[in-house]
Amino acid sequence: MLSLIGIKYTFFLTKISCLILYLYKMDLKKKDERLETGEALPLMEAYYTIQGEGYHKGSAVFFIRIGGCDIGCHWCDVKESWNPSIHPITDIKDIIDNAKNFSDTVIVTGGEPLMWNMFPLTDGLRSFGIKTHIETSGAYPLSGNWDWFCLSPKKNKLPTNGAYERADELKVIIHNKDDFNFADLQAKKVNIDCKLFLQPEWSRNKKMIPLIVDYIMKNPKWKVSLQTHKYLNIP
Ligand code: SF4
Repeated sequence: MLSLIGIKYTFFLTKISCLILYLYKMDLKKKDERLETGEALPLMEAYYTIQGEGYHKGSAVFFIRIGGCDIGCHWCDVKESWNPSIHPITDIKDIIDNAKNFSDTVIVTGGEPLMWNMFPLTDGLRSFGIKTHIETSGAYPLSGNWDWFCLSPKKNKLPTNGAYERADELKVIIHNKDDFNFADLQAKKVNIDCKLFLQPEWSRNKKMIPLIVDYIMKNPKWKVSLQTHKYLNIP
């Protein structure tokens, strides 16, 4: 009984903090209309590294991490991205000028990048011949033109129908056994040629990897994705 009250309390707190983060976003957009048009974005960090996860793992790419996320995954490893108001509002021209020095492929991640208008950023990158990839929960309406769309759905806030249709890659994080059922339900919603990955949540790596191995051997439409950048000790 007490643990049920605890779960309900945690759920309530998560909802409240998601609401506060949403209000932060709306307030920021009022203060700087470039956020509404996508001409500027709250930039958390941008760096050249190796993509550690999923279909493109092992490739050198430039990451652009956009601040702002109200999904509230309790195991999130970038909680500092959640509040958009603590990240500098950065003109996309500056973001693009920097990115084009490093790589012909940019991965836009967050936070949740689709909380913002992604068309100016992706069109700007593409005008320099840069391929645009996104990592998203898909919970917000689609924006941007993408060469690769990695959908990582979250139970707290499910993807839109458009995100399922657009996904090139479905990456489901496995934190507990129930997540295998969730993964299979999500796989039914994407296109037949979408690449399917199961990835252990980092803090439960040791417990979940044997279950994932067993599951994929019984369900070979899935492939394993590991956060290899964490093993390589790179960002
Ligand atoms: S959607 Fe991503 S950034 Fe947002 S809380 Fe979940 S794991 Fe963190």
